[in-house]
Amino acid sequence: MKIETIAIHAGNHTDESTKAVIQPIVMSTTFERAADGSYPSGYIYSRSANPNRTQLENVLAKLENGADAAAFSSGNASGMTVFQSLKPGTHIIGPDDMYHGLRNQLKNLFAGILEFDFIDVNDEMVLQDHIKSNTGLIWLETPSNPLLKVTDIKKVVKIAKSHNIKVAVDNTFATPVCQQPLALGADLVMHSSTKYFGGHSDLMGGVLVTAEKNDWWTKIRDVQGYGGAIPSPMDCYYITRSIKTLPYRIKGHVQNAQLMAAYLEKHPKVESVMYPGLSSHPQHETAKSQMSAFGGMLSFCVKGGSDEAKRVINKLKLFTQATSLGGVETLIEHRASVEGPDTKTPHNLLRVSVGLEHIDDLIADLEQALL
Ligand SMILES: *Cc1c(COP(=O)(O)O)cnc(C)c1O
Repeated sequence: MKIETIAIHAGNHTDESTKAVIQPIVMSTTFERAADGSYPSGYIYSRSANPNRTQLENVLAKLENGADAAAFSSGNASGMTVFQSLKPGTHIIGPDDMYHGLRNQLKNLFAGILEFDFIDVNDEMVLQDHIKSNTGLIWLETPSNPLLKVTDIKKVVKIAKSHNIKVAVDNTFATPVCQQPLALGADLVMHSSTKYFGGHSDLMGGVLVTAEKNDWWTKIRDVQGYGGAIPSPMDCYYITRSIKTLPYRIKGHVQNAQLMAAYLEKHPKVESVMYPGLSSHPQHETAKSQMSAFGGMLSFCVKGGSDEAKRVINKLKLFTQATSLGGVETLIEHRASVEGPDTKTPHNLLRVSVGLEHIDDLIADLEQALL
């Protein structure tokens, strides 16, 4: 089945007792046992499993073409689960522009437990140089946040496999509509479902999808069950509901982002535009080879430095100045000041989560703000 069909059907389950077409939300934390002590519904206690979470996990696994999926209470909780599932002393290689929330999680919570290096994973020599005997995981994020750098997943997988190292990909920016890392050889996919899966800036969630049900996945399920960083039945319901429109929302985001990137690239007040769909993007060829569409995120650098970038933000009327991404409304953000003093993000860079408003209205707003 195609992704539009999967998104609508794989997460729904018509209720047997009421025949409700849309699966009801099961708020019960506990499930009644039979006279012989068995569990006739298969459910025991909601931290271990809940019908709404099961359906969400079903559709997520199918969207990424994986063997199984696990849902969490936030993207960071899903990342934390990966790190907690590794043997203490394991060395992780991550990108030097890894999502700052997860980079800081490793630095602040896992120092002394895991080893990690943040490097330019696009440089094959640098990558080879950092592989050690205890390297167990290469973490990728492509396109990356906020520089929209694209990493050749197949190439990294080939290097990793030759050293028996696992590869996990943060696929939040691309979504499975644009890119499917498991098909390119990755072992694990991670998402913040707070972003495009939720799609309306009103819920938090995280996801892991595995290529195969192996010992590592069993450990990940253990961390999910014992750790308990699970989404509520209500949140699972909302994410499952939003996923039904994900493929069509992404088509709109991609179309608007491509047009906005082309507009900005020609603007005299703009120094540079970072969008994988532009032929000027340094990894455009790699992006074309592994993505079916280039996503709804772009960044651009304004001529005149940080002050000028902030002036543009404040003149925009339709773009909301806020962090996060993936919602129907367009958001813009001065990324360096969110990431903190050790950021490597240029101070004149603005990151845009291109929404689903009409592109003419968005461009008219940019036109008056860039004056
Ligand atoms: C937001 C985000 C995360 C973290 O997800 P939360 O839901 O905020 O915990 C991880 N990676 C990327 C690329 C993100 O954009």
